[in-house]
Amino acid sequence: MTGGRLTRRAWSSRGGALAALLALGCAALAGGWMQSQQRSFRWDVHDMKRPQPPVVQTGAACTMTPPSDAIVLFGGGDTSKWVKAGSASPIEWKAEGGVLTIVPRSGDIATRDSFGDCQFHIEWMVPTNLKCDGQKGCNSGIFFMSRYELQILNSSGNVTYVDGMAGSMYGQHPPLVNACRPQGEWNVYDIVFRGPRFDAAAGIVRTASMTVLLNGVLVQENAEVLGETAHMRRASYTPHAESAPIKLQDHGDALQFRNIWVRPLGAPAVAE
Ligand code: MG
Repeated sequence: MTGGRLTRRAWSSRGGALAALLALGCAALAGGWMQSQQRSFRWDVHDMKRPQPPVVQTGAACTMTPPSDAIVLFGGGDTSKWVKAGSASPIEWKAEGGVLTIVPRSGDIATRDSFGDCQFHIEWMVPTNLKCDGQKGCNSGIFFMSRYELQILNSSGNVTYVDGMAGSMYGQHPPLVNACRPQGEWNVYDIVFRGPRFDAAAGIVRTASMTVLLNGVLVQENAEVLGETAHMRRASYTPHAESAPIKLQDHGDALQFRNIWVRPLGAPAVAE
């Protein structure tokens, strides 16, 4: 899949070509943006030929005390800030010893409250008893606004398509580098997420974006979210509210989490 292009019919006459170009140009100028299906891409979604990013060794794992203005979503025991996704029911994931462990196939979990633009911190670990095979065995993810996934996966010695590895915006952008720690070690994500904005006519005013540090290493820099996370196809947007729950994925694997907090953000700073 290489993204949609203008149809042959549109190019069949000079008038048609001119009209199509003008339409595309106006749409791009008006919104500064085109749905990803209308773009051309160098690589297919989940393209195994796409080169692996360089590996970066990170320092020893360390945790971080939440800032004073952060909302602690999981500090080690209380899970009341979470519900089973799509319900008001308590989660079935296990909180024990300061760690939250996925109970496979009990379902995704979501924050009880909704968030839009935010800074998000989470620590995650793939236990050594899990058997990783590409996307299988060691997979989870963070879905901002319940829609836009930042992948969680063991990418240390576990090869998969690069837009599905740790630090990737799933199916959209590979990480700049592979900064994933080995199984049994804690990884740390620090993320700045900006949600999309839609106008009254359901047009896109602003696409979403992510800046992501994995273990203190930049892996996404203000990267544009191309739309709702999808598998084996290009993403696209469906208009929604300016806030929604943050979801953690149950992909069937017993990954672990600790020290989860969020800081809602106001509008981006502008020069004064
Ligand atoms: Mg995932």
